[in-house]
Amino acid sequence: MIDDLPPLRDVIRTHDLRAKKSFGQNFLLDLNLTARIARAAGDLAGSDVLEVGPGPGGLTRGLLAEGARRVLAIEKDARCLPALAEVEAAYPGRLQVIEGDALAVDALAHLTPPIKIVSNLPYNVGTELLIRWMTPQEWPPFWDSLTLMFQREVAERIVAKPGSKAYGRLALMVQWRADAKIVLHLPPEAFTPPPKVSSAVVHITRLDAPRYPADAKTLERVVAMAFNQRRKMLRAALKGLHPQIEDLLNASGIPPTSRAEEIGLEQFCALARAVKDA
Ligand code: SAM
Repeated sequence: MIDDLPPLRDVIRTHDLRAKKSFGQNFLLDLNLTARIARAAGDLAGSDVLEVGPGPGGLTRGLLAEGARRVLAIEKDARCLPALAEVEAAYPGRLQVIEGDALAVDALAHLTPPIKIVSNLPYNVGTELLIRWMTPQEWPPFWDSLTLMFQREVAERIVAKPGSKAYGRLALMVQWRADAKIVLHLPPEAFTPPPKVSSAVVHITRLDAPRYPADAKTLERVVAMAFNQRRKMLRAALKGLHPQIEDLLNASGIPPTSRAEEIGLEQFCALARAVKDA
């Protein structure tokens, strides 16, 4: 056992935490697995950890047992708070729980750098938070790494490389400013209740500065337009961007007859610079 607290099945029974679909609840009950996810976040000693959606506390316990300096956990379902209070009591001064919606709470006010984010979240909230965490006003962001559970298909879109079907906006947005890799695959049976799809944990480490220079808004616009019509040649897909788009594509080393999914990050950044300068 990783701690002296009761097994998660007992915690769920004691506090009557039957999973609710409306909260996107699929719990991890194997503490060896949650400790593995915590270890995938790297060395936690000396870091504050932000955990969104602790639920009955399986991953929270993994993070604390693996040595996180402090964990700030934000949970929307008030039913989970008594179970989390027991974890708090077992790790005095190291766990703070906030009841609320992670999309609305100002977590930063309660955290001290260095900060890592580790979460097993419902799929829709996870993608929205990922986009927020990857697109702050200023770079570098407040966090050093993100270790997040996603539906497997979304995890593959985050780490995808040019030439693959999964390659697109999400891959470019993340990989422009961070290194991303899948560190763990989980079958549906790893969760209670099991979801319909497989999951994967993605570990994202931020770079100090974006990999190639570009204006964030211009890059986002170019990439969005290119992939909105991913089957079209870029000279057609990007026609609305600039009257001389063919010249700009050529100047950026991109054949105007190529398609979005063949183009790497470096070329998209070159195109974003050319569009901005034009
Ligand atoms: N971390 C736990 C585990 O691994 O067993 C629970 C994972 S469950 C997939 C997602 C958790 O996120 C649930 O406890 C749910 O109540 C919580 N949640 C859902 N939406 C949330 C939101 N907007 N803000 C905070 N927590 C949320």
